[in-house]
Amino acid sequence: MGADRSGRTVVSGAPSRLIADAMLGKLARWLRTLGYDCAFEPGIADDDILKRAVDEGRVILTRDTLLIQRRAARGRTIFIESDSVSCQLKQLSRLFGINAEGFLTRCLRCNVPLEQLDKEAARGKVPPYVFATQDRFSMCTRCSRIYWGGTHKVRMIEAIERMLKGGGG
Ligand SMILES: [Zn+2]
Repeated sequence: MGADRSGRTVVSGAPSRLIADAMLGKLARWLRTLGYDCAFEPGIADDDILKRAVDEGRVILTRDTLLIQRRAARGRTIFIESDSVSCQLKQLSRLFGINAEGFLTRCLRCNVPLEQLDKEAARGKVPPYVFATQDRFSMCTRCSRIYWGGTHKVRMIEAIERMLKGGGG
């Protein structure tokens, strides 16, 4: 990441850490679903976004034209062009090639990486049908939410692929 002469952010490869502004909660959730580290706090003020971006080395995703003009935002901001989350994902895909390699490796609620959970440890903590039909579980170390794959995972990946490939957006 850097800035070109007009102050526009130049992206080379996917930024490892992102922060979404208060308008981009849906996008942040999809990015987390795909395994990207994307901070998001509902109602966060611009000053706090800038502070976290600088302190934590995050690239800012924003729809806010005032925010991108702030000096501290220079070279660390991607202006999101559309209100539609599928268009937003497509824009990021054009910029740094979004993929689903890290699908469901991060807690959607806490934005922290999940850890593998032994099947036995999931017993009694997930619905019996899920326990009987799934073999791979992972858990958030912060909120203890348990995740698993299955048909849910297939459907979500299909939805993501439709969003990234669909025409018009
Ligand atoms: Zn969590």
